[in-house]
Formats: sequence, structure tokens, C-alpha cells
Amino acid sequence: MKRPTILVLGAGYGGLSTVVNLQKSIGTDEADIVLINKNDYHYESTWLHEAAAGTMTPEQVRYDVKDVINEGKVKFIKAEVQGIDIPGKVVTTNVGTHTYDYLVIALGFEGETFGIKGLDQYALSIANVKAARQIREHIEYQFATWSLEEEKDDSRLTIVVGGAGFTGIEFLGELGNRVPELCKEFDVPAEKVRVICVEAAPMVLPGFDPELVDYAVRQLKAKGIEFSIGTPVVEATPEGVNIKKGEDEFEFIKAGTVVWAAGVRGNRLIEETGIENMRARVKVEKDLRAPGHDDVFIVGDCALMINEETNRPYPPTAQIAMQQGDMCANNLIALIKGQPTAEFVPDLKGSIASLGDDDAIGVAFGKKLFGKKASFMKKMVDNRALFLIGGVGLTIKKGKFNVLK
Ligand code: FAD
Repeated sequence: MKRPTILVLGAGYGGLSTVVNLQKSIGTDEADIVLINKNDYHYESTWLHEAAAGTMTPEQVRYDVKDVINEGKVKFIKAEVQGIDIPGKVVTTNVGTHTYDYLVIALGFEGETFGIKGLDQYALSIANVKAARQIREHIEYQFATWSLEEEKDDSRLTIVVGGAGFTGIEFLGELGNRVPELCKEFDVPAEKVRVICVEAAPMVLPGFDPELVDYAVRQLKAKGIEFSIGTPVVEATPEGVNIKKGEDEFEFIKAGTVVWAAGVRGNRLIEETGIENMRARVKVEKDLRAPGHDDVFIVGDCALMINEETNRPYPPTAQIAMQQGDMCANNLIALIKGQPTAEFVPDLKGSIASLGDDDAIGVAFGKKLFGKKASFMKKMVDNRALFLIGGVGLTIKKGKFNVLK
């Protein structure tokens, strides 16, 4: 019998977890495993706020895909997926087409601008490692230009961050540490710089314990971050953002940098597959297959699963993406062996948001954590993700070991 081809799209947390688990458990005579990814590297999406603020370099947050795959078992193709033809079982990329017996879609997230005017054109987004580098360089350019120009435009030194959710708060935490360094590097007086977080909802970090939220806001304010809460961004322009402050009250914030960190959706390619989706996320079956498509698995941020306890979708996280990757590999092996698939049940261990390299808040194993303890735990979580995908070697090479800072 012909060996089935398993085609995995995306080398993020979900895709790589699928592949490294498959390569451990499957013989070359059992299946052909092909992995397609836009770049020849994986980037740690959960560290992108650090690359965007400039507290880490793009190089530090990424590693070669080939460092973690067994090339004897997995064929890696660097290519950009352009279309997924589910009935024809063909994936089109910029370097050719690929057929499959089983498909795993793990193409990750994109920024969601909710149709707000001008955001697509004028706001930057922490969407991938190249976008993070662009944010870092944009901010540095604004500081350098301010320093050089005769007639100084102080709005160059204003950074607006849209969104006080997980990503927005983590980015603000990094900026709180980075701005003093930038001031020193570019001869900018600190009092000229403004970092403003604008949030439409009436609260910061929805879903987090109020005591942790209070701590986070206090710490960020102490680093000079301003908050404008319950004030939706209604438009972005080349000069800044317009926010709604009341029934008929608006304020224009002139800003040299606007970073939109207020929402994510799945990959837009999902919307072209014909599979029913909500914002490019597919409500998958319990075994992670797309409804009505027994040969298609969807994992990570392109998959939507409802938490039956809360009746709300699980948030898109790396934690869940990796667990889904493991389960997806197990279910593929089961199918190849003619065995039944198993249900995916997330094992949520907690959630920790960093507030810079030296501070954090969160809950781990049911315990509330603040400050250095939380920051230590966050680094352990980051190192664990490296370990699960690339073992000890990758953890030593890329891990965060400045844990006592
Ligand atoms: P991704 O990790 O995004 O991987 C998708 C892969 O697909 C990428 O390699 C991409 O290059 C590739 N790809 C995309 N399009 C194409 C294409 N057309 N062709 C080929 N390849 C393509 N989660 C947590 O659990 N904890 C955290 O602390 C946390 N912090 C975060 C901080 C930030 C700043 C951000 C942005 C996210 C954070 N998240 C966190 C969420 C987490 O990063 C995502 O849930 C996770 O990355 C989803 O994994 P994934 O495998 O679905 O997608």
C-alpha cells in the first residue's frame, strides 16, 4: 500500500509540535511527512513584543526549522502557501503545488482591525518577526529624527499602543524598560516621550484577577505609561489616532508611532477554503479535524474550540497550540494505523503576562504570582516551550537564563 503523505502547513507552535511528535513516533515506511513554512526559521510569537520594543533582537527570538526536524523523516519546504484546495487535496505555494492524504493547517494568527478606518494603513502590528523588527526600527527612526531636526516635532516621541489585552500590556512592559535606553542612545529628554495605551473596553487585561490587574497598571504607570481606558480608537491617520471619549467627544492624539495590539484572527487563507469559519478560525471537531473533512486537521490560532465550562472560545495561545500539535500527531498516527482518534482536552496550566524583563503577573498551577517570582515563572514557561519542541540543545541555545534579574 502507498505510504500516506502528511502535509503540515506552518512551522509555528502548532505545526512544529505536530511534526516533532510525528517524527518521534512514525517510521519512514509508514508515512511521508512534509512541512511547509514561509521562512526557513520558526519565531517565538510569544516573544515578539520583546523584538518589537527592541529589548531582544529578531535573531534572539527565532531559530532554524532544521534545528528541530529530523531531515531523514521530514521534508522541509520553504514556501509561502497561497491557496488550499480542500476538495482537490492540493496546496498551492509560490514554488509549486503539493498533494496530500492528510493535511494539518497550522498557519497561525493575523492582526484584527475590526474595520476601524486607517488602522491597516497607518498602524503597525506585532504580527510576526519582520513586523516586530519594523516596529523597533520605526521607533528608533522617530527618536533619531527628533534628535536631528532643527524644529522639533515632539509627537515623533509619542507612541500609542491600541489594546490593553495580553499582547498590549506585555509590549507596554517592554517599552517601559526600553524608553529610558532609547532616550540615552538618541539624546532625548525623557519628559518629552509619551507612551499611551488606548483601550475600548472599560478595563485592562479582561479575564485577569483584579488584584493582578491593579498591580500591572500601577507598575506600568510607575514606568511612565499613560492609560486611556473605555476610549475606542475610531480612526488612524498618518498623524496619529482619533479616540472617542464620550457621546460626542473625541480627542486626536498626535503620535509618530501607533501600534495596534487589540485583536487577532486566524490566517486569511482559511477564509478561502470554503470551510465555515469565524474570523478565519474554524470550530474544529473534538479530535481537531475540520467538520466534514476527515483528512484535514486544524491546530493553533486557526482552530476554535469552545470551553464548555464558560461557553466561550478558549483564547488563542501557544500553550493550547502546542498541546493541539501533540494530539494532532497522535490522531494522525491512529488514523494511519486504522485506530480511533482521541478527543482533545486542553490542560491549562495558567497564564503569565510579562511587564518587562524583570516583572510579571499571572496565575500558575492555581497560584497568583507577582513581580520577580512571576517573571521567573514566565521565563521557565518560555524555556519549557523550547524544550518541548527542540529538547535540551535548543533550550541551551535559545533559552532565557537571566532568571535572577
Ligand atoms: P504561529 O506561532 O503564529 O505560527 C504560524 C506559522 O505559520 C508561522 O511560522 C508563519 O510564518 C507561518 N505562516 C503563516 N502564513 C503562512 C503562509 N501563507 N505560508 C507559509 N507559512 C505561513 N500565548 C501563550 O500561550 N502565552 C503567552 O505568553 C503569549 N504571549 C504572546 C505575546 C505576543 C506578543 C503575541 C503576538 C502572542 C502571544 N501568545 C501567547 C499567543 C501565541 O503566540 C499564539 O497563540 C501562537 O503563536 C499560535 O500558534 P500557531 O502555531 O497557531 O501560530
